[in-house]
Amino acid sequence: MKKGISILGSTGSIGKQALEIVSIYPSRLNVVALAARNDIPILVEQIKKFQPQLVALATEEGKQKLLAALPGIKAEIIVGPEGLIKAATIPTAKMVVVAIPGAAPLSAALAAVQAKKEIALATKEVLVAAGELFMKEVAANKVKVFPIDSEHSAITQCLRGEDRKTIKKLIITASGGPFLKTPVEKFATLTAKEALKHPTWKMGPKVTIDSATLMNKGLEVIEAHHLFGLDYSQIEVVIHPESTIHSMVEFIDGSILAQLGAPDMRIPIQYALLEEERQQNMWGRLDFTKVAQLTFQRPDLNKFPCLQYAYEAGQKGGTTTAVLNAASEVAVRQFLDGKINFAEIPQRVKAVLDKHESQPIASLDNVLAADAWARTA
Ligand code: MG
Repeated sequence: MKKGISILGSTGSIGKQALEIVSIYPSRLNVVALAARNDIPILVEQIKKFQPQLVALATEEGKQKLLAALPGIKAEIIVGPEGLIKAATIPTAKMVVVAIPGAAPLSAALAAVQAKKEIALATKEVLVAAGELFMKEVAANKVKVFPIDSEHSAITQCLRGEDRKTIKKLIITASGGPFLKTPVEKFATLTAKEALKHPTWKMGPKVTIDSATLMNKGLEVIEAHHLFGLDYSQIEVVIHPESTIHSMVEFIDGSILAQLGAPDMRIPIQYALLEEERQQNMWGRLDFTKVAQLTFQRPDLNKFPCLQYAYEAGQKGGTTTAVLNAASEVAVRQFLDGKINFAEIPQRVKAVLDKHESQPIASLDNVLAADAWARTA
């Protein structure tokens, strides 16, 4: 039987690649719902090709554009947050791909877990802002979470068949971003265009800037803490500019397992969508003779303080990580809009964190309130 898949964020970078995987396995995967913001031309093509039952859109304006482009559309169209929840809980879906950046999909991700859907998780905010809450629901509903991120996919693969109690530490690799070798004195003059040039991965703008500040790695540390249930002292970040080792696990006996491969997100996406089943790679492989060398270095926290802020926020817990995330989103937006320079991104984040008084998280409302607070702080 085909597995029904609902994709939250179908017109984004991860959503498009997830649909590419679906089209490779038409006898196994079937798209039942698509949720998108307002990228109507791409969505129209996706609807024509995958014929979902349900389409969730952010705005009424988007709906009107969609109806104009596809007058005979059979799918039910629902606008606003209600549409996201419907797409996340649609009975015909067995798996929900959560790939909308930001806090927007938090309620929908929780609703999907409560509806006992498998989760293929790309949205960092789900674990960063609401990790405790989300993982509690995951455990209570006995659902599986398949990470769509090269690092967490790598760790999942290294842990296959291993006893979690034998983990010494996780070693998360970071490319170091485009400014690894740029002197810190130049950071105030860097432009968004320069920051958007990632050396090894092709990704959306927010995560590309976060890679340049190492905030992305910090958020991944917080995600790993929740996903794998380990203390922050057991999660290490190492700079590995070749991005060939996607992450590693060290065990108590001193053995280290690493997962390596071509830097192509479709590999971890396929692994997640097929529930950790190994299938043919259609896109390219790692050629060791071309790799030549693998290098490693310790992250420079003076140059990239965002990584440290993420560790500190994670250790504080409660609403602090939601604040970290929102403050970073705002700062990145301001940088992309040319309102602040690259060096100011960590300063802005730190200023908001310093003002925040961490609260315990009892419900999603606490998370959303902290998120909203941080955006205006
Ligand atoms: Mg990553």
